[in-house]
Amino acid sequence: MNVSTDQFLQQAMAHAGDAYIGGAWVPVAGSERLPVINPATGALVAEIVGGTGADLDRAVAAARGAFPAFAASPVADRLALLERIHALILQRAEPLAQALTLEMGAAISHARAAHVPFAAAHVQVAIDVLRDYEFLTMRGTTAIVREPIGVAALITPWNWPLYQITAKVAPALAAGCPVVLKPSELSPLNALMFAQIVHDAGAPAGVFNLVNGTGSEVGAGMAAHPDIDMISITGSNRAGALVAQGAASTVKRVTQELGGKSPNVLLPDADFERAVPLGVMAAFRNVGQSCSAPTRMIVPRARLAQVEALARQTVEAIVVGDPAQEATTLGPIANHAQFGRVQAMIAMGLEEGARLVCGGPGCPEGLPNGLYARPTVFSDVTSAMRIAQEEIFGPVLVIIAYDDVDQAVAIANDTVFGLGGHVQGTDLAQARSVALRIRTGQVHINHPAWDPHAPFGGYKRSGNGREYGAFGFEEFLEVKAVLGFA
Ligand code: NAD
Repeated sequence: MNVSTDQFLQQAMAHAGDAYIGGAWVPVAGSERLPVINPATGALVAEIVGGTGADLDRAVAAARGAFPAFAASPVADRLALLERIHALILQRAEPLAQALTLEMGAAISHARAAHVPFAAAHVQVAIDVLRDYEFLTMRGTTAIVREPIGVAALITPWNWPLYQITAKVAPALAAGCPVVLKPSELSPLNALMFAQIVHDAGAPAGVFNLVNGTGSEVGAGMAAHPDIDMISITGSNRAGALVAQGAASTVKRVTQELGGKSPNVLLPDADFERAVPLGVMAAFRNVGQSCSAPTRMIVPRARLAQVEALARQTVEAIVVGDPAQEATTLGPIANHAQFGRVQAMIAMGLEEGARLVCGGPGCPEGLPNGLYARPTVFSDVTSAMRIAQEEIFGPVLVIIAYDDVDQAVAIANDTVFGLGGHVQGTDLAQARSVALRIRTGQVHINHPAWDPHAPFGGYKRSGNGREYGAFGFEEFLEVKAVLGFA
């Protein structure tokens, strides 16, 4: 079914007070109204109604009821469902992109080029993995069988809303797990649209359920729920730890994709003219609101002045402004709390004695309204500073100088996080050796193209478990050994 942008947005907004449970939109029992604010204007875009424990119970019951048939469904049926979902995301790409601009300030060009197609890519990856997956393999006379784990609860953040949803929902459905999704209450419109897509794709009733609401109500309820078999959260370390605590007594599987403070090591032989601009833009992509943003640029001390000059030049070419305009590179920070955090961390950097290369506190010139931050680069940063240790989640890059490669690796690993990492260098053997010494779930050498099949997840406090590709799919499977099978 083709729908226009306006129609589809209006249709989603009309369900702001609903949950999607058992194959139908139903009014939620709750009454708490949660505003969705356009960060570019401060205008109220919609008000969703927060779900309650009773709404969650209904959704979990629907998922539980759907589990036996869905778990046993032919692979061909699940492939066909995912293919219809994939096609509908692409057909409705424009309204999805427009909604992202409205609800979290994503620059429209970025929403069109990245948020939506990458979200579709997660569905395509789930299709690719499922098509070839061996659910039963033999080891001698023992069969190793992979089975869906059960009802999966999925909690997603506001920064890449649709992308995070498909990264969880698609592999769960591929595996045969019915899901209950709780998207971020700060940017829930994409989730409403996605639910409509799953509905229009003809998902069996109960296989996909959506309950909007807060983390403390619906999210915590999911963690503790006795009838949920697995919970997967992407969000802050605070929320991830609370989910693990809440889930402990029911011994459900917990996967967490949490924060990051990812290093970008520029080796002495790097192509600085290429590496610095790409590194700055990778750090500031999505206004720096990406968990794996390479926000620590670790550079040879002898090249510091050159790196600073290249970084300044790159930032000068960035267009900060109205996210609805095609020419805009960076829109506003997605929400008020995050804006405050970014401003506080920029002030902290100055207090700690870091030197501004460009940017700084406050809003860019000519943008006094809206949650716009100045793309900011700090130099003379040491690894001990808070701006080098804490996730800022905004357009703030720190440059840290090193004296030799061993020190560069030590700085790269001097963090509680371990999500992303980058290495730049022309001698590939050296770049590889440094990449292998960085303790993070992903390392990118010389800014390669995105690989949606590559497993993604954290070492250390960046999380547990992996998403994307076969690894992400297997998180939703149990392993059964049947001895004497042959
Ligand atoms: P957040 O933790 O505030 O919220 C994330 C989700 O968790 C929301 O749906 C929220 O309602 C829910 N939540 C909050 N408290 C909860 C609780 N007590 N129990 C259960 N659920 C709860 O995070 P955010 O501000 O939306 O997202 C930003 C954070 O997410 C950053 O730290 C970022 O690094 C991280 N992130 C990680 C990845 C990754 O893949 N590793 C990707 C994107 C974002």
